[in-house]
Amino acid sequence: MEKDLGKEIMEMREYYRKGNTKHVTWRRAQLKGLLSFLAEKEVEIFRALNLDLGKNYVEAFRDEVGLLKKSLNLALKDLKTWMASKEAKLPSIALLSYAELVPEPLGLILVISSWNFPMGLSLEPLIGAIAAGNAVVIKPSELAPASSSLLANALPNYLDSQAIKVIEGGPAVGQQLLHHKWDKIFFTGSTKVGRIIMSEAAKNLTPVILELGGKCPAILDSLSWSWDKEVVAINRIIGAKYGSCAGQACISIDYLLVEKPFSSTVVELMKALIKKMYGDNPRESHSISRIINKHHFLRLKDLLTDQKVKDCIVYGGSMDEDSLFIEPTILVDPPLESAMMTEEIFGPLLPIITLDKIEDSIDFINSRPKPLALYAFTKNEVLKERLVSETSSGSVVFNDAIIQFAADTLPFGGIGESGIGKYHGTFSFDTFTHYKAVTRRSLLTDLWYRFPPWNNYKLEL
Ligand code: NAD
Repeated sequence: MEKDLGKEIMEMREYYRKGNTKHVTWRRAQLKGLLSFLAEKEVEIFRALNLDLGKNYVEAFRDEVGLLKKSLNLALKDLKTWMASKEAKLPSIALLSYAELVPEPLGLILVISSWNFPMGLSLEPLIGAIAAGNAVVIKPSELAPASSSLLANALPNYLDSQAIKVIEGGPAVGQQLLHHKWDKIFFTGSTKVGRIIMSEAAKNLTPVILELGGKCPAILDSLSWSWDKEVVAINRIIGAKYGSCAGQACISIDYLLVEKPFSSTVVELMKALIKKMYGDNPRESHSISRIINKHHFLRLKDLLTDQKVKDCIVYGGSMDEDSLFIEPTILVDPPLESAMMTEEIFGPLLPIITLDKIEDSIDFINSRPKPLALYAFTKNEVLKERLVSETSSGSVVFNDAIIQFAADTLPFGGIGESGIGKYHGTFSFDTFTHYKAVTRRSLLTDLWYRFPPWNNYKLEL
């Protein structure tokens, strides 16, 4: 296995060196190939996502297929602009010169992705990498086997298989891949594995993009709301928490901060809106994804085993191991030192933490690792400004959640423990591009004072 992998990677590098992937026609053909894959295999993609995660096809289209199509169309539209050299101004001492930033591909890219959006998180980085003219190996997550095998079996029929390969497997295969030399590694996954990726990459001085996780807070400010606005806000919170892969999303709301007197109203509204979305018996609903596997099901169950945490459940809490179903669950004030509040939840459990004043949320957030996303539902402009200037996170969204992922005009990525680097839209192209500084100078004439001998009067010129 290891020997074959080495041979495959070597052949890919040779293929890349011949310049096959650099031409605009190659890049366009791959982007169009991916569009055809999404169009022709749409039903199979939906089936795979449903098998792996119980994901509804509407959610699968919204969060994966639809977003990928949007990214591909943008890349095809803007490719020429992205690929064009950008002129750079030079100081006047560089008489009769011209400089430009020439985008060049990096070479061989390794994409290691996660299981929660197995199509999106494998193909979104691929779009940027091929638009930038690179050869790419994708290692999808073994925990979404139907999606992984669909990618491995179908993509070669749509893409240049000498330059783009899908290699299936788990951590052992990931580890083998890391022993080879890459020009960039794009990793989506846990902070724990992110550290392994970075230390392996360091051996070859390979740059990394780490799209990691963490606990994303949401603040719900009770001040100056009218009832109908509260409904809009809480609908969005519920939708973001349970309606995108059942909370198994890196930018899902991990916990909610509210002022103490407001919490019971919030819980009552949440209960009503959860019922509206998932009915009286959510176990029968096809609108909520299932937990990816037994291991993660038991991990989530474990978060609730501590009696002190269990006592905080105010809604939900039921589970079915056979169907990997966990009911949308709300807790109020679980102990801050419990795993529920120290580990990333990554599932349909939503702790509400009550505060005396909503402004206390700033210290609460700042005393924890920098999150991938921060959400605040508020009309308070002073609070908004304070959150932007006094906290640090990959992104901030006011009065909604998760929508930032769909915006290709915004860089997507974390900071600190939530990640390194960014992608989406033009940021993806930049991530997989080296901007080479090229200066061209005329030999027509020169300035005599730039050459020795050095005399003081030259400084005075
Ligand atoms: P994970 O880190 O366990 O696995 C991610 C990938 O790494 C998988 O393909 C896996 O096979 C591979 N892998 C695991 N161990 C490896 C090793 N030792 N060497 C090489 N490869 C290895 O994470 P996961 O369970 O797939 O995903 C959950 C985490 O990912 C959560 O923390 C979540 O927040 C984060 N995530 C982040 C984003 C983002 O865009 N920032 C998106 C989705 C998920």
